[in-house]
Amino acid sequence: MSSFIMNTYNRYPVSFVNGKGSWLKSENGDDYLDFASGIAVNILGHNHPKLNKAMIENVDKIWHLSNLYKIPEQEKLAEKLCSLSFAEKVFFCNSGAEAVEGAIKVARKYFYSKGETLRNEIITFSGSFHGRTLATLAAAGNPNYSEGFGPMPEGFISVPFADHDAFKRAINKNTAAVLLETIQGEGGIRVLPDNCLKEIRKICTDNGILLIIDEVQSGMYRTGSLFAYDWASIEPDIVTIAKAIGGGFPLGAILTNEKASQGMVNGTHGSTFGGNPLACTIGKKVLDTIEDEDIVSNVKIISQIIFEGLEVLLKKHGNKISGVRGKGLMIGIECLEKNSVITEEAFKQGLLLVNAGDNVIRMLPPLNISQPDAEAGIQKLDQALSNIKI
Ligand SMILES: *Cc1c(COP(=O)(O)O)cnc(C)c1O
Repeated sequence: MSSFIMNTYNRYPVSFVNGKGSWLKSENGDDYLDFASGIAVNILGHNHPKLNKAMIENVDKIWHLSNLYKIPEQEKLAEKLCSLSFAEKVFFCNSGAEAVEGAIKVARKYFYSKGETLRNEIITFSGSFHGRTLATLAAAGNPNYSEGFGPMPEGFISVPFADHDAFKRAINKNTAAVLLETIQGEGGIRVLPDNCLKEIRKICTDNGILLIIDEVQSGMYRTGSLFAYDWASIEPDIVTIAKAIGGGFPLGAILTNEKASQGMVNGTHGSTFGGNPLACTIGKKVLDTIEDEDIVSNVKIISQIIFEGLEVLLKKHGNKISGVRGKGLMIGIECLEKNSVITEEAFKQGLLLVNAGDNVIRMLPPLNISQPDAEAGIQKLDQALSNIKI
């Protein structure tokens, strides 16, 4: 099929015409249960009445304003994010990669502004994913994504996932920061254990290194707390968010404590669209709705249902799947069969899933998904696994 769209995605042969809650309807009239959520974006499902209302009420006000002017909607969302977290300063942007790219700049500028002008190295973990810009590709150090796009920006050192000794060995006088995902998303729902994160925090503090946590996928209550690192009871210095913060509207942000933001003075960073009034209004509505509808309780209930359902499938289909991992509604299924074979069969059953690294399948349903819909998802996966003959 020829198309004018650049050939960068291997797309399913379907297009959707509308959505409601956890369901999407295709142009052929078929219903699909959405356990992908636009990759952890549509946390309140599709067509949420409160988000729609926020959009409609603001559409005839101001769509866009330059950051040359004060934007009250931005102030309100920043205040909310800070009241809920460690953060004391927020910079708004439009995507995850842009947030991580900005976080790298914040960390480097912090040391530069203190006169430590060579202190710019950033340590990352293997298997991570931080976006598709050149610096975020260089940071993740995954040749599958970066091959052919060189030369790559310098100053990133990748060490094996959760390997504390390698991490300590990589630290030198020019180490500025460590950048990590609490739960690796694209890498295959690989969870950094709480005690590991605690230890990393301590090493960073002891060495005066900034801790940057990329919560673009794991954040925004996906694990049942605002950020996945909350479970380790630590505070990072810089956090990146995007994906779910706009509930489907493009929005991203860098959150920092007061200290880490010190180098970011007038004129050091910017974004034309970042923090526009419409995006920030919707971002604030997403956070308010999560509180009003007690989404955190739903994440806990549904997570238990899905994990229990998957345990049953593990026993029944032990020749095709071998394990389940993750937290809250960020769930990975370890596959013995090739993961894409299973996700394609699930697609035929009307269930949308996402492949990840490490031959894992991701389940990222909306956080407000109902109990019956969660159970329907497990049933569809059960049917898909039964259909696969090996
Ligand atoms: C998706 C993702 C990104 C990149 O976000 P984009 O909005 O696609 O640029 C960065 N980090 C993590 C952890 C992600 O999951």
